[in-house]
Order: sequence, then C-alpha cells, then structure tokens
Amino acid sequence: MYTTLETLGVTTGDVILEFSYLVAAIFFVIGLKQLSHPETARLGNRWAAAGMLLAMITTLVLHRDAAGAGIQSTNIIIIVITISAASVLGAYIARTVRMTAIPQLVSLFNATGGAASALVSLIEFSNPGNESTLVTLLGLFFGSIAFSGSMIAYGKLDGKVGDIFAGFMKYLNIFMLAIIITLIIYVLAAGAPFEVNRMIVYALLVLSLIYGVTFVMPIGGADMPVVISLLNSFTGIAAAMAGFIYNNQAMILGGIFVGSAGTILTILMCRAMNRSLFNVIVGAFGGGGPAADKTAGTVREIQLSDAAVLLSYSRKVVIIPGYGLAVAQAQHVCNEMAELLEEKDVEVKFAIHPVAGRMPGHMNVLLAEAEVPYDNLIEMDDINPGMAGVDVAVVIGANDVVNPAALDDPSSPIYGMPIIKALEAKNVIVMKRGMGKGYAAIENHLFYMDNTRMLFGNAKDSLQKLVTEIKTL
Ligand code: NDP
Repeated sequence: MYTTLETLGVTTGDVILEFSYLVAAIFFVIGLKQLSHPETARLGNRWAAAGMLLAMITTLVLHRDAAGAGIQSTNIIIIVITISAASVLGAYIARTVRMTAIPQLVSLFNATGGAASALVSLIEFSNPGNESTLVTLLGLFFGSIAFSGSMIAYGKLDGKVGDIFAGFMKYLNIFMLAIIITLIIYVLAAGAPFEVNRMIVYALLVLSLIYGVTFVMPIGGADMPVVISLLNSFTGIAAAMAGFIYNNQAMILGGIFVGSAGTILTILMCRAMNRSLFNVIVGAFGGGGPAADKTAGTVREIQLSDAAVLLSYSRKVVIIPGYGLAVAQAQHVCNEMAELLEEKDVEVKFAIHPVAGRMPGHMNVLLAEAEVPYDNLIEMDDINPGMAGVDVAVVIGANDVVNPAALDDPSSPIYGMPIIKALEAKNVIVMKRGMGKGYAAIENHLFYMDNTRMLFGNAKDSLQKLVTEIKTL
C-alpha cells in the first residue's frame, strides 16, 4: 500500500503553502543578490517585497493550525486592515522623508522589526502548545535589544540623544549580559510552564530592553555604523527565532537572510573602523580621552576663480564626498562639475569611504542617484595607494573620513580608523560651511595643513558657482 499525502494528514493547500515559501525564499535570494549593486538595487527591493507579499497572502489563505482549522475570518479582517494601514503609513513616510533622514528611518524600521519579534516571543511563551523554549527566549532577548538599541540609534542619528562615555558602562553591560544568560539557563533548566516562570520572563524582557539602551548609549564618535549593522543582524535573528516558533519556513529564511547579511555587514564595518567585534558587543568603544590639539596654525581660504583654475588645469582630481554632500543635496551639481572637468581631459574619480555619510553605502546611493558612472567610484583601499599622485583632492562635506588624527594621534577617539588619505594629495580643497566638526565631534588638522585651502559655503552653492567659473575657462 502506498503512503499518500492524505494518509499523512497533508492537504494540497499545505503543499502549495510550503511551495510558496520556497518561491518566496528564491525571491529573497534574487533580491539580496541584486541589492549588492547600485544599478540593480531598486529591482532587488521589489523582488524581496514580492516574495514577502506572496508569503503573506498564501499564509493568510492556506495556513492551518494543528487541529486543521484555518485562520478565523475575523482575524483575517483585522490582519488585512492592519497591514493595509501600515503599508499606507510606510509608503507615506518613505515618500516624504528627507534624504538625509533615511538613516534614522532605517533605524526606526529596524526597531519595529525587533519589537514585533519580541512580542511574538512574549505571547508564545504563555502558549502551552509551544515547546521551543530556547528559541522563544532568544527571540525575546534579541528582539528586545534590537528594539531599544535601534530606538537609541535613531535618537543619536537624529541628534536627539547624546553619547555617554562612562567607563563603568562597559562593566555594567558585561554584568547584565551575565544575568540575562543566567536567567535563560535557569528557565531552560527548570522546564516549568510559563505561569511558574512568568516573573523571570518579564525580568528577562526588561533587562534585555535596558541592555539595548546601555549597549548603544556609550557608543560614540565614528563607531555608530558598526552598531547599526549589528542591530540589523539582531532583528534578523529575532525574526528567524519567531519563524522557528511557528515552524514557518518563510520567516525562518527571511530572518536568516537579514541576520546573516547584517552580520557580514558588521564584520565589514568592523574592518572599516578597525574594531574588534568583542568590543562592539560589550560596548567598549571610544578613544582614550581628549585628542591632542594639532589645530594650531592658520586656515587658508581659496577663491572660487582660483579653485576653478586649479581644477581645470589638473591631470588627476579625486572627489571625496561625505555627509555634508547629502545634507546639501549637491550630488547632481557635483557630477556636473566632474563631467565638465572630464571634458577638459582631467581624470576625475570619487573616493568612497565605507562609513562616509550616516548609513552603510550612503555615498554609493547618493552618487548613483546623480548618475555618476559606477566605474568612477573607487573604494578607499584602492584609491589610497595613488593619493600622492593626485593633483587636487576635493573634500566635499566630509570631515571624519579624512581626519589625519586617525593615523597619528593615539589619544583621538578615531585613532586606528582607516581614512581616505586626502592629506597626501598635492593640493586639497575642502568645501564646507564653516569650521563645524563632523559626527565624531573632533577637530581636523587637515584643514590647517600647508597643502589645504578651504572653500567655505553650502556645498551646493559653492559647486554651482564653481561650475559657472569652470565653464568660463
Ligand atoms: P562628518 O559627519 O564627519 O562631517 C560632515 C561635515 O559636513 C561637517 O563637518 C560639516 O561641516 C559639513 N557639512 C554639513 N552640512 C554641509 C553643507 N550643507 N554643505 C557643506 N558642508 C556641510 O561626515 P563624514 O562623511 O566625513 O563622516 C561620517 C561620520 O558619520 C563618521 O564619523 C561615521 O563613523 C559616522 N557615521 C556613519 C554611519 C554610516 O553608516 N556611514 C552611521 C552613523 C555614523 P560644517 O558644519 O562646517 O559645514
């Protein structure tokens, strides 16, 4: 006698549902692959969103519980109304958000992902049918940290929350982590139902939320990119845990993809910042005290006409964009200047620092929007060896990523972070509004060096005037 799906209690609907999860996972993979290149990134987003939509629709229509019952129609109505309202709100926010506020928005979205996973764990802990105690506890832990940590990251990126560099925070974090691990082991070992462990689970929730805050709070200066990508991976892990609780393949795979992409990004960011992952986890960032003052000297300005002549008669120009370029929305006019110079046989390249701006890949996104050819975007490690042969390095709204203190000042909070070596170019033109500091809030002695000239003003205004001058030459 043959074993049929029916005899195993599997319906055609179950098969279609599982198959749709497989298709959704393939869509996620295609989406991720396409996200790795600016040219295909938009399409990649759509592929991943389509996968998610497919998984949601098939789950609503075909999901059955252990007793074989589908989702109640009243629940479906509530879910559809909630998803629709959230989609309208999300689309509105995404369309109206300022380009410079995208990093904060990403943190906020990450926080909601963490909160959702933590809530799933909290609810499912009291479900007697849930036998996955470990994954439920891990979902609660990672989801809570992702939520509270991302909210603090949001506040920091938005300038609403400052840094707290208290040395004891490092020990407090290690202490709290030890308590959290002990509580998780205790609950697992006790094996008692939720009613018995209720207070411990609530304590775990509160401690994890506090840990998220104290873990991100002391991270200051230029180290935020690492923690942002780490929080991203925590949300992925929490979502995967929620997927394990429900035995939902799409959630498991989606969570694993986000978790592993976030982890890879964290490793890349750690390398870019020259930090170890252990230091990130215990929140042991920051430098050893105030930076040495090397800024004694004079800041020299350059006139627009002189800058235009210098650029037009150069052989090699490297543009180093930073956060200020995004603030000024000067990417289009920046590309216009590059094209004008290329028409004059000047070789123009854009040097991309991995943490320039306020989110991973910020400069790539910005310059792709202005249609700068991808071949002209050169990564830091590739451009640095040739910087001494560059006639003019044009620093536009960048500060920390060209700060020589990272190379030669052990007391600086950014000491050890690789920088784009603008200082080695024959001439440096720095375009910024004034002597304002960067994200790390430290002085930059590049501005005082002999080969540097400052072109003060809003980057967009200065570039527009520069373009007009170059056209007259
Ligand atoms: P910085 O934040 O170091 O400096 C930006 C500079 O832009 C400021 O000094 C400011 O000077 C200038 N500026 C601001 N507005 C304008 C404008 N309208 N026109 C011209 N200039 C302007 O930027 P970088 O890109 O060099 O470095 C990024 C920093 O952010 C690093 O410390 C990094 O670690 C951190 N960070 C990065 C994240 C990422 O994922 N990429 C995430 C979180 C933090 P002035 O006021 O004088 O004009």
